[in-house]
Amino acid sequence: MLKIAIGQFMQESHSFTPIDCSWEQFQAGHIYRGEEILTRMAGNRVEVAGAIDVAREQDLGIAPLLACNAVSSGYVRSDVFEGLLEDLLERLEAQLPVDGLFLALHGAMVAEGDEDASGSVLARARELVGAGTPIVASLDLHANVTDKMVAASDGLVGYHTCPHVDLYETGAAGMRLLLDVIRGEAAPVMGYCQLPLIAPPENSVTLEGPFRELMEIALDFESHPNVLYVSVFYVQPWLDLSDIGCSVVVVADGDQQLANEIAEKIAEEFWRRRSRLYVDLTPLEDAVRAAVSAPQGPVILADGADAPSGGAPGDSPAILSALLEASVDVETLINIVDPAAVDSAIEAGLGKETSLRVGAWSSDMWEPAEITGRVLQISDGTFRFTGPGYRGREFHRGRTVVLQSGSIFLQIMERPVFQGDLALYTSLGLDPREARIVVVKTPSAFRVDYEPFAAQIILVDAPGPTSSNLKSFNWRKLPRPFYPFDEIDDWRQ
Ligand SMILES: [Zn+2]
Repeated sequence: MLKIAIGQFMQESHSFTPIDCSWEQFQAGHIYRGEEILTRMAGNRVEVAGAIDVAREQDLGIAPLLACNAVSSGYVRSDVFEGLLEDLLERLEAQLPVDGLFLALHGAMVAEGDEDASGSVLARARELVGAGTPIVASLDLHANVTDKMVAASDGLVGYHTCPHVDLYETGAAGMRLLLDVIRGEAAPVMGYCQLPLIAPPENSVTLEGPFRELMEIALDFESHPNVLYVSVFYVQPWLDLSDIGCSVVVVADGDQQLANEIAEKIAEEFWRRRSRLYVDLTPLEDAVRAAVSAPQGPVILADGADAPSGGAPGDSPAILSALLEASVDVETLINIVDPAAVDSAIEAGLGKETSLRVGAWSSDMWEPAEITGRVLQISDGTFRFTGPGYRGREFHRGRTVVLQSGSIFLQIMERPVFQGDLALYTSLGLDPREARIVVVKTPSAFRVDYEPFAAQIILVDAPGPTSSNLKSFNWRKLPRPFYPFDEIDDWRQ
């Protein structure tokens, strides 16, 4: 019986956020070890579950190693990175020999002193299993793919969707590719092109626009008989690294030249669309005015500049302050991260009125907001996503309270959490479908869940560490020339 080792090591890093990635960020996500992976992750719509299901269907032996996933944040502290990697590798070593290794990675993970932490995970695993044991890894669509990652693996497979709703399918595809290699039915080679380009995440959506066109082109190439998998990576842009850029990876069956040619063709199409990847955002005051006076709701105000999915702390009070200033009087759902305010609200007690200063605790980028209201709800904050992406996955936002101030329902939580899923609000009995204004802190991840019922969507230009105004950051390591900071004619330079 074939024996396949399965692991996960995921975190999305950010160079400009005030929040480091310590053990706490992994605890807020998850760390599962050994058999716990099978009991806790099977049945979820995530990569590891897809890989497990394919292995089970084919009656293979599964060796579950370590599965860890942190909330997006700054660079992973070196002791945390080494601790988790050692744990993963020791578990792998104890299972040797294995016939193959499947790893679910994000691909934009940076550790202190290691720009390419995802590449290091693959390289260290390769050292351990040797050249003869195939390794396939799944990656987020926002991965920063490097030569090291390509060299250390037999196949890299990325999501095809943004908002990400095909995690499970990507894991399943990765496992199928791995099995084909083990059984000698495929001999994968990878074509890889990196572009000197980063772009705002609003346009990494595959629902419409330039990146959808690009993904369709990529999927057309994937139907070529000698092509096994095609990925287009719209890298997480807030990474000030010396080796970075959007990229294309084509996995072909034994034909390196074909893989290279197709990767280059898609990269060329990506490059041609570069100016269309930039977005027009609505200034904060205009956005709030439009939302407050809209004839019908729900109006979705998307604050992409404080997006926890991109590594922001989630404590920006920018939109909240503007709504309070505008004396909003229609039902409004909004959220903020502030552990001290959670403490104060819980101390005040359920049903009690209290005055709080909320937000802006992680940096002086903003001023805290002052709000008075009634503590409507107190929760332990644990909840599961219900939408198509990540469905079933448990999230931990820490203790969470809902404060009602007039028509504003403010969710205050201890830790940042992904915002794209309706369960962020419905888990607290708040229904975004019934509200007039809903604030979500994400540039694009909300679209699958919210677009079907939103009367209007406004992308707000607020200050914050995940602002799409990429020229406003202080870049130091990024190679030059680089788009959009320089005009470049040929991306191959
Ligand atoms: Zn992503």
